[in-house]
Parts: sequence; structure tokens; C-alpha cells
Amino acid sequence: ETVQPAELIAELVEQHQLTTAKAVRFAVHVAPDAIHCDPLHLRNVISNLIDNAIKYSREQVTITIQGQPENVGWRLTVTDDGIGIPKSYQPAVFDRFFRVPTGNLHLVKGFGLGLYYVRQVIERHGGRLQVQSEPGSGSAFSFWLPSL
Ligand code: ATP
Ligand code: MG
Repeated sequence: ETVQPAELIAELVEQHQLTTAKAVRFAVHVAPDAIHCDPLHLRNVISNLIDNAIKYSREQVTITIQGQPENVGWRLTVTDDGIGIPKSYQPAVFDRFFRVPTGNLHLVKGFGLGLYYVRQVIERHGGRLQVQSEPGSGSAFSFWLPSL
């Protein structure tokens, strides 16, 4: 199916802003092209990344979608200015039930399943996931998906 990413992201951001008490600013940069993908899974994947970005950010979340050269696919990145993830834990964040032991586990609710789901969906669609993060300054989660 074909998805208009600009519409999808706008809808998801609005939904998350309505259901969170935290004052988070969003910036969205989306290439206007249509994307061929499974809309339900794409929606859930992006929703999980936005949810994390809100939970673990201070106040700013940026969402970017870029087409890739020669039409090999597209990349989505969700960047936050939050607590970040120590290097030693970064490879584990996509594991089932894993949560970084920061001492805030009871303040910030979660099961450690969101990123596991994200990984399952992206890998089954032949995509790639990446996390870049600096403790204390923030994280960028991105995935690349091939054009169908
Ligand atoms: P769930 O998504 O199941 O509600 P969760 O958010 O704790 O719970 P994941 O989304 O799988 O679980 O994330 C795993 C862990 O990775 C989190 O518990 C958190 O420690 C860390 N993490 C994920 N996203 C971020 C982020 N944007 N900034 C800092 N840490 C993050
Ligand atoms: Mg989560």
C-alpha cells in the first residue's frame, strides 16, 4: 500500500501530544514522496519511537524522513534531547524486555518491548536499524527500509 508520510507523521504527533502530559516540542521534516509499505506496522513502529522519544526526552523531538539516492529506499530518524543511552547498553536496547537500568524504571513506565517490536518489523521488511546516543545529551533512532 501507499502511505503519505507527511500525513501519517502529523497524525501520530497529534495523537501523542493529546495523550502525554509532558510539554514536548516537535519538529518534522518529511520528504513529500509517497512510501510503499505495510501501513499498520509502519504506524506502530513510528509510534513506538515517538513514545520513547517523549518518555526519555527533555523537551525537543525531531522527526525526519529522507529519500535515499537512486531510490533504494528511505530513512526515518527520530531524534531527542533526552537522557541518552550509555554505549555499553546500546546493542541491548532492541532485545526483548530490556530496559536500561537507570534508576528511573519506576518513574518511566514500560515493558521493554517497544524496540523489540520495532526490530522485528524492520528486519522482516529487509530494513536496517541504527541507534546513536550520547548519555546526557540525547538519542537518534533511525531505520532504513528498501523501496518495495
Ligand atoms: P515499552 O516500549 O514496552 O513501553 P520501554 O520504552 O521501556 O517499554 P523499549 O521501547 O523497548 O522499552 O526501549 C528499551 C529501553 O531502551 C528503554 O527502557 C530505555 O531504557 C531505552 N530507551 C529507548 N528509547 C530511548 C530514548 N529515546 N532515550 C533514552 N533511552 C531510551
Ligand atoms: Mg518504548
